[in-house]
Amino acid sequence: MAVREILSVEHPMLRRKCTKIHHLDAGLQRLVDDLIETMHHANGVGLAAPQVGVPVRLFVVQTPDDVDEPHAGELFVLYNPEIIKKSDLYYPEEGCLSMPGWVANVPRYRHVVIKGRNRQGREVRIKGEGLLAQALQHENDHLDGILFFDHLESMDQLRRVEKAAEPVEV
Ligand SMILES: [Zn+2]
Repeated sequence: MAVREILSVEHPMLRRKCTKIHHLDAGLQRLVDDLIETMHHANGVGLAAPQVGVPVRLFVVQTPDDVDEPHAGELFVLYNPEIIKKSDLYYPEEGCLSMPGWVANVPRYRHVVIKGRNRQGREVRIKGEGLLAQALQHENDHLDGILFFDHLESMDQLRRVEKAAEPVEV
């Protein structure tokens, strides 16, 4: 396992539409290990493959275990995800590991159901709410080259935050 460099938002890789995965080979398993290690190293809640320079439809998500929500602390690895249900729009605060030090309140759904394949290639459905739902939407966006601030009406809505008070970065 290795911590990989997280690309920053101006990198063109983060604007690509990522390709679907058809074979779970050893290289992909190594990539999953590295995504997990890199996410933990950066204290993030999620990380998508394009953020480390690999344009495939894969991300990992893990909310902190002290969040009072279902699946808190559970690690999810998802290939070829697709959001199949969403409800209850709200505007939570959000940041991105590819744009450290900046946050904004972006429109997200409080409840989502996402389907995809897990690390073993089995089809799974994850019912997420709150922070988990938010992270699933943020990471899923990365696979289509969409960044969190694309949801804002103006870049003036971005706020600077102190490193010490790091918010949710995914
Ligand atoms: Zn992000």
